[in-house]
Amino acid sequence: MKLPIYLDCHATTPCDPAVVEAMLPYFTTFFGNPSSRHHLPGHQAEEAVEIARAQVAALIGAMPKEIIFTSGATESNNLAIRGLIETANKKPCHVITAATEHHAVLEPMRHLERLGHRVTVLPVDKHGLVDLNRLREAFRPETVLVSIMMANNEIGTIAPVAEIANVVHEHGALFHSDLAQAAGKISIDIKKLGVDLASFAAHKMYGPKGIGALYVRSGLPTIRLVAQMSGGGQERRWRSGTHNVPGIVGFGKAAELSQKVMKEEAKCLEGLRNLLFDSIKNALPRVVLNGHPTHRLMGNLNISIPFVDSETILATFRKEMAISSGAACTSTTNEPSHVLRAIGLPTDLIRCSLRLGIGRFNTEEEILYVAQRLIEEAQRLRNPTSAKNKQVSIHEINYPEVLDDYRISQSRE
Ligand SMILES: *Cc1c(COP(=O)(O)O)cnc(C)c1O
Repeated sequence: MKLPIYLDCHATTPCDPAVVEAMLPYFTTFFGNPSSRHHLPGHQAEEAVEIARAQVAALIGAMPKEIIFTSGATESNNLAIRGLIETANKKPCHVITAATEHHAVLEPMRHLERLGHRVTVLPVDKHGLVDLNRLREAFRPETVLVSIMMANNEIGTIAPVAEIANVVHEHGALFHSDLAQAAGKISIDIKKLGVDLASFAAHKMYGPKGIGALYVRSGLPTIRLVAQMSGGGQERRWRSGTHNVPGIVGFGKAAELSQKVMKEEAKCLEGLRNLLFDSIKNALPRVVLNGHPTHRLMGNLNISIPFVDSETILATFRKEMAISSGAACTSTTNEPSHVLRAIGLPTDLIRCSLRLGIGRFNTEEEILYVAQRLIEEAQRLRNPTSAKNKQVSIHEINYPEVLDDYRISQSRE
């Protein structure tokens, strides 16, 4: 077993070796520019891009022409949200999103507000789900777009996207969904889901970083977007710039692979996740499960271990395991997780939160090791006589009250 053990698959996943192998010839042998299709190297590169486009489309049941390659889910979200609203010719529009979205949705929304548009950010319940009646009430005559993700990158909660899409369409708006965490892990039939626009990132599904896609539904009503990058007119003029051919080939391969292994992998991840959770909650009383108890990504475990400061855990295990917390965000901002706040988790429990993201290459041995080490350290930190105990303030929280609100893990699932 090699250390550190990687359990941060919501941040990124390693490339599958088969993906790397598929990419390699496109750096050297087939290095052509797909836009130079009048000669053989260009034509070969173009063919590779189109094969990958078909592979990505097949993963979600789309038509190849509905797939626009971008640099990742951030760019796809920006192209969808800003690109759509920019077609409105300065008329003030209204858009709706949810409080638990990724920053790559919330920040473009903020940009729209600065341009004079209106944004409604819907609250979520304690599991991280939007109330559909609340969504219905949020519509206005000028509402043009709703953006709500399928699987949350922190708490793993899976939203009923098809139901949301129905509500959105009843009100005559378009629906965008960030599918970066869902794709390759949950079976997606994009036509049945009824989303109009959807974002993807290859590196969340064992593909390379810096490549992603935006699904743009064809058919009526016609979706118009203003390109956020203009130039050579690639990708139906929606995304100019020379194609990242090795990245696109890798994305295609990753899509093909995950489609093949999805069912079995989900079962395996569920087993490992339950093993991890059961081991921890059996050893440590009062562990809180954050997110939905059943409607959640198989590889996701987000827990709070009361009285155990997660920053201390992260620092202690820095070289031993790669895990995250919602306490001090991993990104540049030092804000506590907006997702954990949105589900109403008290600050004291946010400070004790850990996000564990299990993936394709984790083993049972690794899971048992991580569980054991976390338990040991948590027990040590919970012991009031332990040296350097950072937990003083956490000891002061009104414990029974917190426990009433956040049904403790020993129940259900
Ligand atoms: C990772 C992620 C993104 C951003 O993807 P990039 O590849 O960094 O652009 C957006 N949304 C969700 C839900 C994600 O998990």
